Amino acid sequence: MAASNLPLFRLDPTAPGSARGYITAAPAMTSAVDQSVFPDLTHPHVAGLAMGTLAILPRVAFTSATPTAAMTPMGLIERVTIHHSGFPQAWTLDDQGPTAEHLEFIRRFHTDAPPAGRGWADIGYHFAVDRAGRVWQGRSLLYQGAHVRNHNQNNVGIVVLGNFDLQSPTPDQVHGLTDLVTYLRCIYMMGQMEIWTHRELADEPTSCPGETLMAQVRVFRGF
Ligand SMILES: [Zn+2]
Repeated sequence: MAASNLPLFRLDPTAPGSARGYITAAPAMTSAVDQSVFPDLTHPHVAGLAMGTLAILPRVAFTSATPTAAMTPMGLIERVTIHHSGFPQAWTLDDQGPTAEHLEFIRRFHTDAPPAGRGWADIGYHFAVDRAGRVWQGRSLLYQGAHVRNHNQNNVGIVVLGNFDLQSPTPDQVHGLTDLVTYLRCIYMMGQMEIWTHRELADEPTSCPGETLMAQVRVFRGF
């Protein structure tokens, strides 16, 4: 197949170097086009962004765990959905260490067996944005997330840490989220209409991503 005919997101977890979308390097900031984060580096559109400035912390920065079960392949990426973590108390810590522990807490909540946890194979979100504006890799983009029931197909899940019915996102957090969404839109050629929030897609009522983050999303996507 000619390179120009490659799909935007090639789903081949067995491809050399893909390592099922997970990396084993020491935790460090990595380019957004690191193969572990965006597996299809061969696509010319992705390759053309190799000098991008968005940095993403790989998942090994918060966990050594790998998925506990097989997951469903993502398919072509067509939309993004924004969430808040939404715990009953506001999340106010900025430092990387406690943030990593918090993300591991979320991953364990998602993977622990019910009723204590959700019983999913991995953390449900593909990316997280913390209070300092850092972007963290969660579940590999090779696989569907677990973030909007019945609507996870072709859908990138981003969680912004905090409860935005109780607090506001920090300016750095808004910048981090905007940069990530812009980058995803560029790589996967998505328009503003492909940027969703949980409440807009959910079959059941939810306040997610909270009022103050919803307002920010409306600003940066333009509706
Ligand atoms: Zn949500």
